[in-house]
Formats: sequence, C-alpha cells, structure tokens
Amino acid sequence: MDNKIVIVGAGFVGSTIGYAIMNWGLASEIVLVDIDRERAEGEAMDLNHGAAFVKPVKVKSGDYDQCKGADIIIITAGANQKPGETRLDLVRKNTEIFKDIIPRINKYNQEAILLVVSNPVDILTYVTAKLAEVEDTKVIGSGTVLDTSRFRYLLSSHCDLDPRNIHAYIIGEHGDHEVAAWSLTNVAGISFEKYCQFCNGDCSYDGNYSEEFKEDIYRQVRDSAYQIIKKKNATYYAIGLAVARILESVLRDENTILTVSSVLKGEYEIEDITLSLPSIVGKSGIKKILSLEIAEQEKKELKKSANMLKNIKNDLEI
Ligand code: NAD
Repeated sequence: MDNKIVIVGAGFVGSTIGYAIMNWGLASEIVLVDIDRERAEGEAMDLNHGAAFVKPVKVKSGDYDQCKGADIIIITAGANQKPGETRLDLVRKNTEIFKDIIPRINKYNQEAILLVVSNPVDILTYVTAKLAEVEDTKVIGSGTVLDTSRFRYLLSSHCDLDPRNIHAYIIGEHGDHEVAAWSLTNVAGISFEKYCQFCNGDCSYDGNYSEEFKEDIYRQVRDSAYQIIKKKNATYYAIGLAVARILESVLRDENTILTVSSVLKGEYEIEDITLSLPSIVGKSGIKKILSLEIAEQEKKELKKSANMLKNIKNDLEI
C-alpha cells in the first residue's frame, strides 16, 4: 500500500503501533517523531531491521516537517499512566503537550486524518478537534476500541468461541466511567443470553445472566489497564493492534463499525464532547456515528460519562 503514516510519540505505544502496521503491510512509509530523538532513531532502526520479513516499508525518524504528505498522523506522545494513576490524572500534563504538538502538525498538514491515542484519549481528542485546522470528522480517538476488544475477548472465553463472532460494544469514556452496552451484545445474530441454549460450555448459566456476572465482566474490562500497569508498567500490544485495525479501516475505506471517539453532535442528546459510540469509519474518517437503541440504564450511564468529561473539559483552557 502506498501510504505515509506519521507517529508522534515513539514510546511503548507508538513503536508497537509501528510494529503492527509493518506486520499488517498497511504502509509504505512510517515516520516516528519524538521529543526524544534518540529513542525515535533507535525504534526506527529496530523496526527497519525486520524489513526483509514484511511487505516493503521504509521506517525513519524525523521532525514535524515529515507530516507533509502523510495520510494519517497518529499521536501517542505524552506521559503514560503510572501505577495507581487514573487516565484523567494525566489531563493537564498531556493537554499542554498537545497544545505544542497540534500547531506543529498543522503547519505541514491540514488534510490528514488525526488519530489520537494518548490518554485521557477522549479529552485529548476534543483538544485536537479544537486546535487542529481540519473538520471534526477527520479527528478520531482510539476511544473504546481496545475496551471493546477486551469485552469481546472475555465473553468469547466464557463461551469458548472465536472473539470475532462476539458482537459487543463498550461505549462512552475510555476510562473509569465507560459503559458496557449489554443490550447490543449478540452472537450469531441472537442475543448473548439466547445463545446459551446452543452453547456446549459447562458453565452454570442457562440464559439468565445475573447482574453479578455482568458486573464482574465489566469490572475486568474497566480495570484491565490498571492490572497490566501494576504488573508490567505499561500496556501496548493490544492498543497497537487496535490502532492498526482503525488505520486499516481508514486506509482501505472499509466502512467498519468501530467504537472510536469523536465529537458528538446531539447523539443521545449529548453534544460538544468527545466520546465513543459505534461509528462507521472509512477514508474520510468518521462517516457516521450510530445512535443505536440501547437500554435506558445504559443511556443514563452514557450521559453520566459525558457530564463528567464535560466538567473536565470546561476546566481546561483551550
Ligand atoms: P511512553 O512514555 O513510552 O511514550 C511516550 C513518548 O512520548 C515518549 O517517547 C516521549 O519522549 C514522547 N513525548 C513526550 N512529550 C512529547 C512531545 N512534546 N513531543 C513529542 N513526543 C513527546 O508512553 P506509552 O506507554 O507509549 O504511552 C503513550 C500514551 O498512550 C500515554 O498517554 C498512554 O496513557 C496512552 N495509552 C493509550 C491507550 C488507549 O487505549 N488509548 C492505551 C495505552 C496507552
């Protein structure tokens, strides 16, 4: 594929995204930009040394002028969560970093899709949409694509099925107030609960999933990052794949439904805040945000998530 991808932030997440893109053959050129030039150089060298095993791709490190002609610019720069720190604790630090980065990107490119990964991803996607000189539909946050994958993985393990056969979404904030949209969960075209009668599993459920079961799965999804960070200080493999999947949908104009984060325009009566909802993603970015029929309780939780983010956003000087 003849695509140029720039990754701003060549830390754990940025370089793993580069690795995933290389493996999937999604780009002909990948440029790593980082305030720590040595780090970016080292990561580019390491990735290039695998060139003989993947589709032709050139990886280099560079400065913001490399944004010229890029199709997608991914932003993973900034501080990451430390053990015990919430994503929202990062808000001020990373907003300041974005105030520096976005105008530098703008100077060289006002056409590319901007894909935000740094945390808190919803707020930083909003900051990007406000500062960048591109339409809102071209500003995408990785949002709850990763959380949705965690949810599908856990449900698939429970049913001993291929996770790709589980259709389920985590919506709202990527963080402590995210919402599991159980009402949309389905397997083989039927609800998760109804699928029980076809399941060969030996669990005690017969379609009557208790609130306790749902809460337990939800808690595992919501708290996964804390668990991983406690054990190995950072998370990067699954987010690397999640971002590669978003990228693939844009580059191939796939119109994939993904729970990316974008500026809402009245969906569920929420506007001027950035949250994840199932959205159609293709070459032009966010083609449509889907306001699917969800349970009343899920709507309430979604609004709670939005109000919390609105308060944080209102405190920021942007
Ligand atoms: P890291 O510390 O390994 O990498 C961050 C990189 O950003 C560093 O190399 C640093 O030098 C660079 N940087 C800092 N300020 C910069 C600036 N002004 N300009 C350019 N580069 C700059 O951290 P990481 O583990 O790679 O995490 C990166 C971000 O991704 C964090 O905010 C983390 O919370 C987030 N993250 C998001 C998700 C998600 O689902 N959205 C998942 C995992 C991590």
